[in-house]
Amino acid sequence: NKNTNSLLSLENISVSFEGFLALNDLNLSLKTGELRAVIGPNGAGKTTFLDVITGKVKPTKGDVFFKGKSLIGRKEHKIARLGVGRKFQSPRVFENLTVKENLEISVSTPKSPLNLINKKIKNDQLDEIEHLMKVINLSKKINSKAGALSHGQKQWLEIAMLLGQKPDLMLVDEPVAGLTDEETDLTADLLKSLSGENTVVVIDHDMEFIRRLDSNVSVLNQGTVLCEGTMDTIQNDKRVIDVYLGR
Ligand code: ADP
Repeated sequence: NKNTNSLLSLENISVSFEGFLALNDLNLSLKTGELRAVIGPNGAGKTTFLDVITGKVKPTKGDVFFKGKSLIGRKEHKIARLGVGRKFQSPRVFENLTVKENLEISVSTPKSPLNLINKKIKNDQLDEIEHLMKVINLSKKINSKAGALSHGQKQWLEIAMLLGQKPDLMLVDEPVAGLTDEETDLTADLLKSLSGENTVVVIDHDMEFIRRLDSNVSVLNQGTVLCEGTMDTIQNDKRVIDVYLGR
């Protein structure tokens, strides 16, 4: 393992779908506490990149190290248990439960399970839920049904549910698709506020959103990392301009 200082490192990863290289010798690594944006045109390999980390897709070549362990050959639930959490593009909250109940489920663990019948929840779990409500600024909606929330609020609730599971790495897939400009800005501020304490990878193609994250950006194209740097650096990179304007 070349990148022993990294929380996550993908080394020379290739993924072939019947001969088509969705990922082609991709190298990418992250430090603990980092917020990283991954952008790229449609078909660049962003989803496949997440699928390799979570164990959904098996690479044909290369290795993935997480907390010093290779993830290759591990099952999805094992990788999740090692501390990789993923939020999919469309919110998957329990619509018929309240915001609080959704969070109760997320903070419950095998050691400290939630008893849905008599709702015994430990004090430290209640504190955790209140903290999460503040992080996503939804304290006023604690007893609202999740189904009654706006699309943006559902996205934030799901981010809080992911945080409640205390993953060591959070993978967030297109969190601002379908959000208003104001909700998009709030989502960027929320994700930005998580860095330091949390290691977060955000995939998106909304440039204004990515700029507001103020993070390092990896640009994917044709299954490999074209360049990395701050938004200012990558926006002036001729290769990036060609990729985005050449289509
Ligand atoms: P992105 O998320 O950046 O849009 P994807 O990772 O979804 O890109 O896809 C990368 C490429 O791999 C695309 O050309 C896509 O058509 C192809 N691809 C993705 N999944 C499969 C699959 N299961 N079978 C065949 N081709 C796939």
